[in-house]
Parts: sequence; structure tokens; C-alpha cells
Amino acid sequence: MRRILAALIGILGVRAAAFAAPVPAQLVLTNGAVYTLDGARSWAEAVGVSGGRIVFVGTAAAAKPWIGPQTKVVDLSGKMVLPAFHDSHVHPISGGVEAMECDLNGLATREQVLEAVGKYAAAHPKAKWIRGGGWELTLFPGGNPSKTLLDRVVPDRPVYLSATDGHSVWVNSKALALAGVTKATLDPPHGRIERDPATGEPSGALREDAEELVGKLLPAHTAAELAEGLKLALLRANAFGLTSLQEASASEEELQAYAAADAAGTLTARVVASLYVDPDKGLAEVARVKALRGKYRSRRLRTDSVKIFADGVLETRTASVLEPYIGYGDDRGKPNLEPAAFKALATALDREGFQIHVHAIGDRAIRDTLDALEAARKANGARDARHHVAHIELIEPPDIPRFRTLGVIANFQPLWANGDRYITEMTEPTLGPERSRWIYPIASVIAAGGVTAFGSDWSVSSLNPLDGIEVAITHREPSKGPGPAWLPEERIALPDAIAGYTIRGAYLDFTEKETGSIETGKAADLIVLDRNLFEIAPSEIHGAKVLWTLLEGKEVYRATGF
Ligand SMILES: [Zn+2]
Repeated sequence: MRRILAALIGILGVRAAAFAAPVPAQLVLTNGAVYTLDGARSWAEAVGVSGGRIVFVGTAAAAKPWIGPQTKVVDLSGKMVLPAFHDSHVHPISGGVEAMECDLNGLATREQVLEAVGKYAAAHPKAKWIRGGGWELTLFPGGNPSKTLLDRVVPDRPVYLSATDGHSVWVNSKALALAGVTKATLDPPHGRIERDPATGEPSGALREDAEELVGKLLPAHTAAELAEGLKLALLRANAFGLTSLQEASASEEELQAYAAADAAGTLTARVVASLYVDPDKGLAEVARVKALRGKYRSRRLRTDSVKIFADGVLETRTASVLEPYIGYGDDRGKPNLEPAAFKALATALDREGFQIHVHAIGDRAIRDTLDALEAARKANGARDARHHVAHIELIEPPDIPRFRTLGVIANFQPLWANGDRYITEMTEPTLGPERSRWIYPIASVIAAGGVTAFGSDWSVSSLNPLDGIEVAITHREPSKGPGPAWLPEERIALPDAIAGYTIRGAYLDFTEKETGSIETGKAADLIVLDRNLFEIAPSEIHGAKVLWTLLEGKEVYRATGF
């Protein structure tokens, strides 16, 4: 009896506390479809915010006591609320800078590209170099554009244009001449000069490290240009509902730009910067990135991550694969690091407490990466390291369960899994049907218990997380509407797709106690969408609009009319 009484008092006590009038919240969002991304993936109708933090999550009725005379109340009339999005692999500054130069992103034909280059050159008569990027490999046979096309539109000045994937550049004759790149120039160890098959002359495309043969002549971007690029990127990111970004490859100049923005109060996203590690320098890089980590750290900027490029891309056969590319003799691409060097580098970086972020595309690069991370774990002991592998384009099935067993996060770019021409024309033919079954195996990694987080790789592809969420569940290009899915086995469900851009992104950034879900006590990083993603056709998700973005309760974006 006494025990029952005590239990009753306990219950009553809790109830009394719950019904005590709370201090009114500063902001209450109510009558919404709030998908919280908490552990139970529960839904709510209202969220209260005070001092930048979430103070209430529950029904609209239960939110009423949180509304006082000073409370700003936003009636959402059914609109959706989500935690603000995370992008786990993005290049904000270089993407922003590219958008301000000769921007070729989204152009659909060769003619449009050449016209844009000509117009840009005419509009910038004083520019010593015509530089920019965003052209699609698929617009040119073999992803191989010719210098003579550029010579026709810009004969007098050097031109340097990055492909949208960042692994090729297209240059004109003037640029090659200035750099002294001729028939006699040898390919660098991790790069390729494309050549005219008849004459052996450089034809205008440079792959991977060969980009630097010309790129080293480009004037460095100024601090002001980097700051402008960042500003543009943040505006776009916030408009797409993003408030957490893992910068995928940061130079010191870029860290300076982030730090300056943070000091000025204009860094409207949480940034984890992955410090670029040069694979050719290997262990010699460890002291340098440690120094950078010590130097750059502020309220919204963390530098605990390092980035290693393990290989290139499949389309141009610079990705490192286990079996040869079909139709190219014994060509298997080339890894940037041999296994022993990779293991030594990963072990040293892991020992220093870095989170290791690896670009790995080919099945050999992915296996080498997992082997290196496994070696680090064996040498240093298991810890909560949250190393992650970005892209994971082609994998051998036995490596899929290793993400779970090694505690390595699979950092996918789901927008790429759409069966476009990059896949059907440039990738699958060189792999054959059997290996092509294992391209972007997101569902298989999830089924094997691995943690998946998602990113855009902007400016490689759209910065809008809704594009990635849609393709993750449809496996179709968003512009194409409903229809048959490419590789339907690897599609995932909407809750997993949203989690990849929210709570699992937070986990990847070690901020899951602070953001990534809508729970009492967490920061009010929130977005309002114009429609409930669970109530529309999957092929319409990309058309949903972010109306409002809050970072720590402060508005960083509001759509006109909201
Ligand atoms: Zn990237």
C-alpha cells in the first residue's frame, strides 16, 4: 500500500510539474506537421523556442500554456517543420567563387556552354584569365572537349574551366602554350593529359593532377573573393534550409574566410571543415593539419576533420577499380596512395584524434580506405572516431557490412543515383552489368546496419537537399517526373532519406546532442516547408519550397510571402 501511495504521489508530482504554467516562449510554431527526427521518429504539431533553444515540442493544445503576451506565434496551417538540413560533403567557398566566375552549371548543350564562355569573355575584357567551371562531361564524346572549340570563342586569352565534377579541366591553346604543355610533356603520376590520337598533341582536357600543369599559373583568389564566395554560398544554403555544412576540402585561405565570417557574425551555418591532406606528402602533412586545427576554431567553425582523396572518378577512368575498365585494356585507374602508405597516414591521423573523411569512388579505393581505417583502429584502439567515406560509387559486396563493423559512416550523394547519362553512357559500359549492380548501394549499406549521411558535393551537383531526398527514394532525375527507377533495389524510404540530411548528418559532425532533430533542449535549427513531404508524390519532392530557416532560433532565410 505504501508503495502504491508513493507511486501515486510520484505520478501526481510529475503531473503537477507538467501543469505548472511555463515561462512563455519567445516563439511558438503551431498547427504544423512537425517531423521531429527524434529516436521514435515521432510527429508533433507545435514547437516552442526561447533563447535559441527548443523549449517545447508537442500538440497544438499543449503549446497553449507556452504562449504569453510577448510570444510570437506562427500558425503554420499544416505546413511541415523539420530540423534544419545538414550537408555532409559540400564545397561552399569554391562553389560560391565558381558561381561568380564563368558559371557553366546547368547548361544543357555544347553551344550554350560556348556561348556563355564567349559572353563572359566579352563582358570581362580586362580579365587576364577566363576562368570558371561547371561544364558537364556528358556534353562531349568521352567527356573530352577540344581546345579548338574554346579557341574559336576566346583566341586571345588563356581559358581554364573546371568540369562540374572537379576532376577535369578544359583549357584553350593559349593556356597550354603559356604553361608550356606540349606533345613532349609527360603525364604526372596521378593525372592524364588527353591527347589527339593522331598527333599526340594535348587536345584540351586535363585530368586530376594534370590540371595543375596549367592551374599553377592562375592567380590565387584574393581574401575578398573567397569572402564573397562564402557569402553567396551561405545565402543559397540557408535558402535551401541548410544550417550545418561539412566543408569537404579546406585550404588555409578558406579557413581564414570562415574564421573572418564567424568573427563578423555572418557565418550563418555550423561549419566542420575537413582539412585537405595531400596524399603525395603523406605523413609529412600530419603536423601541418594539427597546427591548422589549433589555429582555427571559433563559435561556428570546427576543424577536427581531415580530407584524403583516395582516387578520382569512374567517368574518366581515374577511379581506382579492382577489375579493368571494359574496353581499355588493363586500365584499372590508379589509387592516390598505395595501401601501406594509406594505412600509415590513416593511423597517424587517427592517433591525433582527427575524423578522417575520404573521397573514394572505385571499388579498390573503397576497399583500400576501409583497410586503412581498420588498420588505424587496430593500431590505436577503437574510439568514437566517426570516420567517413564520401561518394562510394562502386563497391564489392563483401565490403558493404564493413561500414557497420568498423563504425565508418557511409557519406553518400544520393542525387547521383538517378540513372542519368553519367551512369548509363559513361560508367555502366566500362563496368558491365554485373559490377554495375553495385553502384551507390545506399539501401544495402542501411540493410547491413551501416550509418548513412548525405551531402550534395555542391558545386558538383545541386545544393538543394530536397533534390537528393527525392532521388534517394525514386532513383530518377527530378526533372523527368514519375517512371521506372534505375537500380530500384537501392532506393530507400523517405524517413531514411530525411534522416541522412538531418540527424545522421549531425551524428557525422558530432553535433547530434545539439542539432539534427526537434527535441527539447536542442538548438532551434528549424525549417518550415510549404508542404508535407509524406503527403505528396515522391516525384514532387524537389518542387517543395523552404519558407523559413532558423539557426539557433534566429532567422537566416525567409521566403517572400511567408
Ligand atoms: Zn567533393
